[in-house]
Amino acid sequence: MFRFRSIRSRLTVTFLLAVVAVMLIVGFFLDQLLGHYYIKTLQENLVRSGELAGQFVSAHLQEDADPVWLSSLAQNFKRQSNAARVIFVDKKGVVLGDSVRVGGYLGQRLERDEVDEALAGETGISLQLSERSGQKVMQTAVPIIHEEEIIGVVFLSASLQEIDKIMTDTRRFLFLTTLFAAAVAGVGSIFLARRFTGPLELLAEAAGSMAEGKLDQQIEVSSSDEIGRLARRFNHMAEQLNYHTKNLHKFVANVAHELRTPLASLSLIIKSLKDYQMEPEQRQEFLEDLDHEMDRLIALVKDLLELSALEGGAARLERFDLGEMVRDLYQQAASNFDRQGIKLLSELPAGEIMVSGSWLQLRQALHNLLDNALDFTPPGGWVKVSLWVEEGTVGVKVEDTGSGIPEEDLPFIFKRFYRVDRARSRESGGTGLGLAIVQETVEAHGGKVGAESEEGIGSTFYFTLPLDQRGVNNT
Ligand code: ADP
Repeated sequence: MFRFRSIRSRLTVTFLLAVVAVMLIVGFFLDQLLGHYYIKTLQENLVRSGELAGQFVSAHLQEDADPVWLSSLAQNFKRQSNAARVIFVDKKGVVLGDSVRVGGYLGQRLERDEVDEALAGETGISLQLSERSGQKVMQTAVPIIHEEEIIGVVFLSASLQEIDKIMTDTRRFLFLTTLFAAAVAGVGSIFLARRFTGPLELLAEAAGSMAEGKLDQQIEVSSSDEIGRLARRFNHMAEQLNYHTKNLHKFVANVAHELRTPLASLSLIIKSLKDYQMEPEQRQEFLEDLDHEMDRLIALVKDLLELSALEGGAARLERFDLGEMVRDLYQQAASNFDRQGIKLLSELPAGEIMVSGSWLQLRQALHNLLDNALDFTPPGGWVKVSLWVEEGTVGVKVEDTGSGIPEEDLPFIFKRFYRVDRARSRESGGTGLGLAIVQETVEAHGGKVGAESEEGIGSTFYFTLPLDQRGVNNT
């Protein structure tokens, strides 16, 4: 269907109009220029022939000159000059010789304005429509001068039929060229428009499908122009959207799953407390279980909130000394480690280590690493937290002599809800979100995380952060 509001039809019509307009302008000027040129050339030819003829007859143009001789002379000049007629008149305007023998003007006065002008010493020129032939005719009259006196006039006339024919041919040619150019422009613009709008229509269709929830849309890209770039960006956007949506679904399913277990335990405990008569000690035990499950739920919700805040990117930016934060945490945690028979060591450089970001989030990340080390290290082992500064970054490392992580699990431990030993993690109150929080926090601060581990020997978790070097003199 032809819709003028579509780019395709607009492009085609604009192209066509532009080509036709250009051709019309060019044609008009060409027509004017050529017409003018041909008429000027004819006029010059006639005047030059008239002057030549005048010079030739000036000596012989006497009153008793032989009209037959003059007429045949006029005929000769007519042939040489391509004129339609050549007439010689005397100084009174009476015809002395005419190239038209039969029905000519011999002996008559030639009543023409051009002749009068020539007798007055000018060159008379006019363009007229011949009543007899119905054709356009050019008439020229040139004075014949003998001993500085006007003794007569050469009158020449020529038909413009030839010029008219050339001009008609030229116009026909221009018209056909315009038609051809319009056809080429029309076909070209349809082809071009299709090239442009084809991918756009595909894009619109794919976007429509995405709006309906079919997110796995990809369109074929063959060009490298702006539209090709747009299509590639669209493909990338669709891919990302698809990936994130799938992730979100997975995450929601995981959250539901994680919530289900403690909620089921809670429900069971509450039902037991409600439905059964119990000894006070047994009742106390149930209440403690209830308390424990509640703590787990609260920890899970806290971690989820933490993650969602990280994704929202709403962290407050402040500048602080990371060394001081680690020292503080070390002091707070030392007694906890002590109680479980684990030695907490540290290796911290002196001086300020300034970073910028969220103090609260980074402290939480560090806290998670120390918490894991505490959970997975048996009594008698040790945990060491160290800091180092290197080329504009600061590194933080937490080493332990704990259970270690199997090689096949190591690449996944930063994923949400990933736990090597699900039962053990749950027992120790783990949510499976601790390392995911560490990774998201560090990456949101422009840093990187990593882990190395050997089963049965221990693990090392580390991350780097860019130093805030404002106000530091580098010399
Ligand atoms: P969790 O709350 O279960 O500790 P994390 O995301 O903090 O969740 O850790 C994910 C899993 O990585 C843990 O369940 C555990 O299997 C493993 N892990 C983390 N830290 C250590 C560590 N220091 N030693 C051994 N395993 C660890």
